[in-house]
Formats: sequence, structure tokens, C-alpha cells
Amino acid sequence: MINRNIRVSLLGLCVLLLSSFALAQQLSPRDDPAQQRVEPFQVFDNLYYVGAKWVSAWVLETDQGLILFDSLYGDLVDIAIDGIRALGMDPNDIRYVIVTHAHFDHIGGAKRMQDEFGAVVMMTEADWQMTEVEPIYQAYPKPRRHLTVGNGSSLNLGRTRLSFFQTPGHTPGVLSTRFTVYDDGYPHTAFMFGGVGLNFSGVERTEMYIDSVKRLMGMGDIEVNVPNHEGSGDVFERYELLKQRRDGDAHPFVDPESYEAWLEILLINAEDKLQQEQAAAAN
Ligand SMILES: [Zn+2]
Repeated sequence: MINRNIRVSLLGLCVLLLSSFALAQQLSPRDDPAQQRVEPFQVFDNLYYVGAKWVSAWVLETDQGLILFDSLYGDLVDIAIDGIRALGMDPNDIRYVIVTHAHFDHIGGAKRMQDEFGAVVMMTEADWQMTEVEPIYQAYPKPRRHLTVGNGSSLNLGRTRLSFFQTPGHTPGVLSTRFTVYDDGYPHTAFMFGGVGLNFSGVERTEMYIDSVKRLMGMGDIEVNVPNHEGSGDVFERYELLKQRRDGDAHPFVDPESYEAWLEILLINAEDKLQQEQAAAAN
């Protein structure tokens, strides 16, 4: 009788262990490619969205190959690779991967791009250094150190030129990029701010972030916001408008006013955060 009870409770324990193992294996909605898949789409003559729902990846097409902005992570990397193929391009043509910052959701697929397609990964020195220490949020395969870029760096690929800016705050080495997109041959100045979220702490870092946002505000000539999380630029909403666009309509992504207004909001939020942090530090 005692033996049987032990056996029953052992069986119960096994079931419990197995089910908790299954739970641990279940992907969160953010990490699940089935829930994150977005059909890739073209936004400008030379710019395509190949990202997931919550985190973006963009392809800039040049006459000498492709430049990929951010690499997604985990199983979501397939979304970018499949997307490039679905759009009629070849992932083997990815020459560079520009990693906006070294958090898993942007850097996670970088090593795969190096290994499978021979892409060169670009990041700032400060964020390369982040790859040497324990990741804050989620682990990822560490890319080999390739190119280091920062303020004043640029990249020429064929006739395409990109200018880089180190805009720290979100991480110590957020990388932002300025480039040109074309709407039926007509050029527009685009910008990718590489680290928007305020999920970091400390007066010094918040001051860095505020400086970065002010520098972006000072540029004054950006017409197109290309965000690394779609929500930072209403990418999907604008794409719906783009699909309905008729001859003579403005391009819904060419919207300098809303870009400026967005930067104002980022600044206000960061200044609030700074006040709270300064008050907490004084206590
Ligand atoms: Zn981040």
C-alpha cells in the first residue's frame, strides 16, 4: 500500500515536472514567430520592411548589395530572411548589418548574418563592449567583432551613402543613421534613431539621452522617420495609407512635422525622468 502511494505521488511529480517544463518551453508572444510574422513590404524605391510586429528590421537596397538595419533575434530572424527572399532579393547580397544597439532584439540575428551570408556587422565601440558582458535582458549568439563606427563615420556602398551618429542614452553606444530614400526617384532625407526607449536608469545616462534627442532636433531637415520599433513611427498605419495612395498624394512616410513632434515628446518624457532621478538622488 505504501509502495503504491509512493508510486502514485512519483507519477504526480513527473507530470508536474513535465508540465512545468512544457510551460517553460512555450514562447512568449513576443518571441513566437507565428505571432510576430508580418508580410514584408516596400516603403520607398530602396527601402523595405522585413521586421516583426514588435521589433523592426529594414533593408536598404543599393546598386552594390543590401544593407540590413537590425537583425531581430531567436526564431524571429527567419522573418527577416524569408522577407528578403519574398521581396525578390537574396540574403547572400547582405553586405552590412547596422546594429542600432546591443540589446538582444536588435543584435540577436547578427551572428547568423555573418555566418550564413558573410555580412559585415557594424556597431559603436561602446555597444561592442556590451557584447563582452552578460546581456541585460535575453541571451543571444555573440557576433564576431567587425566594424566599429561612431560620430562622423560614414559608409559608401555603390552610389549609396550613410552617415552615422552616436546617440547614447538607451545604451552607451546607440547608433543612429542618416540616409536617402527615393519615392519614384524623388529623394528624401531619412533618419533612424537607434535607441528610443527610456528603460535605463541613472542621471548621467538620462542626460546623455537628452543631449542625443536635442542633437536630432537640431538637424532640422529630416523628412522620414525610420524607427527600429514600428510603434515609434506608426509604420503599419502609414503602410496602410501607402497602399491606398493615389497619384499626386503625398507619401505617408514623408512627414517631417510628426517626426519633430515625436522628438519633442521624447524630450519631455526624458526631462520628466531626469527630474525624478535627480529628486531620488537628492533624497
Ligand atoms: Zn533596446
